[in-house]
Amino acid sequence: MLELDGLSVTYRLASGDVPAVRGVSLSIAAGEAVGLAGESGSGKSTVALSILRLLPRTARIDGRILLDGEDVVAMNWGRLRAVRWSGASIVFQGAQHGLNPVRRIGDQIAEPLLVHRLASASQAAVRVRELLEQVGLPAWRARSYPHELSGGQRQRVMIAMALACSPQLIIADEPTTALDLMVQAQVLTLIRHLIASEDIALLMISHDLSVLADVCDRLAVMYAGRLVETGPAASGFKHPYSQALSAAFPTVGDPASRLAPRGLAGDPPDPAELPGGCSFHPRCPVALESCATSPVELRPAGDDRLAACVLVEEKC
Ligand code: SF4
Repeated sequence: MLELDGLSVTYRLASGDVPAVRGVSLSIAAGEAVGLAGESGSGKSTVALSILRLLPRTARIDGRILLDGEDVVAMNWGRLRAVRWSGASIVFQGAQHGLNPVRRIGDQIAEPLLVHRLASASQAAVRVRELLEQVGLPAWRARSYPHELSGGQRQRVMIAMALACSPQLIIADEPTTALDLMVQAQVLTLIRHLIASEDIALLMISHDLSVLADVCDRLAVMYAGRLVETGPAASGFKHPYSQALSAAFPTVGDPASRLAPRGLAGDPPDPAELPGGCSFHPRCPVALESCATSPVELRPAGDDRLAACVLVEEKC
């Protein structure tokens, strides 16, 4: 359904080129849910936005983005407009900013159906009611304005909009980050249910590996614009960065983990000034001397897993 083949994104700024994404290759089959994780600035949202070419004009995309076999990078604007919403749609983090505050939510959910000429006005009204019920909202909410809904309800509306044109792929960029834990759990349950029942492919972006593991079949981890690990969500990580990322969350009921969190020291590197060798080496707790000079590519790590670390072969 989606294949990223050597995807690179470079922002051309007055101060020089900034490589935000470097050679990412990743595929998602129909009905499969893949999670993309990493710290802020790792390039995961840039990957998400590049799939529907939603990046600013300063961004240059290299490589191929195949959506159901068709290269998004090569599409003309007419074809791209047709593919947005109907081929793939996106759910953003902040529903408050994703919805028009002066339009009723029913009109906003109906808009892609009408723009794509997939329904008449009366058919769209029926579909809006169906979609609202599908995401757990009463049909009468179609007449509400965004400010009349809670944060969780607004995020459900965003999901209803994403489903409106029956896309084959949904990209969810931090869809629950702005929600409290209880509402987050409800929205994750909803996403899980919809993906399974509608046979939709899902690319879900988050910095929170536990959220991704809850929903996704496979996880991919990015660091400094590159994939450093991909593998089944059900088995453990092998790359030192992925392991540190998954261990960074304190354990409820364990004061030791709160007082001494096991996160990483330091910050991710500036994409404009990436360190040589393995980009992670300045923060890696198990780095070898050679890691500062020898680049490392993704390599098989067993269990249908790839990891970009020189120590992985020793662990296989
Ligand atoms: Fe750490 Fe070296 Fe592995 Fe990079 S290649 S993750 S620096 S051990």
